[in-house]
Amino acid sequence: MKACRVCKRIVEEGNECAVCGSKDLTRNWKGIVIIWDVNSEIAKKLGIEAPGKYALNVY
Ligand SMILES: [Zn+2]
Repeated sequence: MKACRVCKRIVEEGNECAVCGSKDLTRNWKGIVIIWDVNSEIAKKLGIEAPGKYALNVY
């Protein structure tokens, strides 16, 4: 799986981020967080605006 370098979204298929449309993806990421509620503390901390799976760290 790859992660988007722009918004940290996990991209399971294809070469484009479903959230921000970026093609800047990397396999070099660590940690995974699943966001259901974009108003939660963790979502706010990570700046996440759409529910889904995100990488905690993208290199
Ligand atoms: Zn993205």
